[in-house]
Amino acid sequence: MSDYDYDLFVIGAGSGGVRASRIAAAHGARVAVAEEYRVGGTCVIRGCVPKKLLVYGAHFAEDLKDAQRFGWNVPEVEFDWATLRDNVLGEVDRLNGLYGQTLSNNNVDVILERATVSGAHEVTLASGRKITARYILIAVGAHPHSPEFPGSEHGITSNEVFHLEKLPRRVVIAGGGYIANEFAGIFNELGSKVTLINRSDVILRGYDESIRDRLLQISMTKGVEFRFNCGFESIDKNDDGTFTVMTKGHDPLIADIVLFATGRVPNTDGLGLAEAGVELDQHGAVKVDADNKSSVDSIYAVGDVTNRVQLTPVAIREGQAFADTIFGNKPHRVDYDCIPSAVFSHPPMAGVGLTESQARNKLGSVSVYTSDFRAMKNVLANRNERALYKMVCDGTTGRVVGLHMIGPDSPEILQAAAIAVKAGLTKDQFDQTVALHPSMAEELVLMK
Ligand code: NDP
Repeated sequence: MSDYDYDLFVIGAGSGGVRASRIAAAHGARVAVAEEYRVGGTCVIRGCVPKKLLVYGAHFAEDLKDAQRFGWNVPEVEFDWATLRDNVLGEVDRLNGLYGQTLSNNNVDVILERATVSGAHEVTLASGRKITARYILIAVGAHPHSPEFPGSEHGITSNEVFHLEKLPRRVVIAGGGYIANEFAGIFNELGSKVTLINRSDVILRGYDESIRDRLLQISMTKGVEFRFNCGFESIDKNDDGTFTVMTKGHDPLIADIVLFATGRVPNTDGLGLAEAGVELDQHGAVKVDADNKSSVDSIYAVGDVTNRVQLTPVAIREGQAFADTIFGNKPHRVDYDCIPSAVFSHPPMAGVGLTESQARNKLGSVSVYTSDFRAMKNVLANRNERALYKMVCDGTTGRVVGLHMIGPDSPEILQAAAIAVKAGLTKDQFDQTVALHPSMAEELVLMK
């Protein structure tokens, strides 16, 4: 008989928490998971999944235009935001149900209440009930950061953007990262006038320079307006429900929505962690070791709340590693090297490994190969939009240390190519593979 109510109590049923709960239960642990909002977490409920569906929906704007060059007689078409929104939210509901089912099928007790930590082995539910556990896993994720300035309360975040009543005619987006560029693409394709405002002079810091420059150039050609090195002064609500946005050194903007996409902050406020002796970093993230253990031996953390790599597949791997290590007698750690990532912009971009400048700093001698081409489909469609692939190799060994691309389907192509990069293959080995013609991906084995 255990001294505790559960072997594992997980706070947060998002990507990391669900995986850890399910696997720990499969290893025989008695598991409960508390969720204050909806099972599935950011990715499923208000992130990756609904966003990708909006990206698909928005891209039909281009496809319908291009179809005419391929012989299709496309009658006057119009877009209905409410249909796309409701279908997307319906899919989110379906996935929410499936996640809940998966947990119950694995005998995980799901408690739909907020839980806070009240001791090294104790959590307290919103209802006041106290539950003990041998281990506590913090998997509460993060929330969007909203800058503070006069009128900033009128701004919305990625939490609300999926629920808009109607398609906004004018959208102002704060930030130049993933969410800003993805939603700039979505709204621009759907016909809104988009202005993206960033505090620095770059978009998507961290991605390869040539690739993000190409996205900037294509986005501008498509009609997105950018303001760089630009700070917000105020947002005023007008009588007609629109907003006047004042930024430093620029003309005022009128907007129907202002979307803040300025990073995400770990959800540790009021969780009782510091009181329980769990160390947090300066951003409020739970500090963990390579085995996801916090400064308290019985308390672990995975996913965005640890602010390591804020990506769903990473949180899932961390949850898996935690459960296998603690409950499955199969200790292993997440390998953070060569994590592929993508931005679902229009067109999308994707990358794995070192950017050219990172490789030059790290390795000194570097060889770079590129392919700058117009996809066959874009040529026939008269769409003047060029794809760019870049391969970064160790100048001494020829090993591919980075692969970066922008163009149609680049996330799909990069996921497969990332296996070769992770495996440490060389440019020569890429080139030994016969091209699959005609495809865009064949450029990977033909780069000069
Ligand atoms: P990002 O970290 O991608 O970008 C944040 C942007 O906001 C940067 O341009 C940054 O400017 C700016 N910024 C940061 N802090 C402030 C501030 N205090 N005031 C004004 N501007 C600020 O964050 P997102 O919100 O776009 O996304 C959050 C995270 O979610 C991402 O980091 C990513 O891990 C994940 N995500 C992943 C997606 C994917 O995999 N496709 C999609 C969406 C989100 P600067 O130029 O100075 O860096």
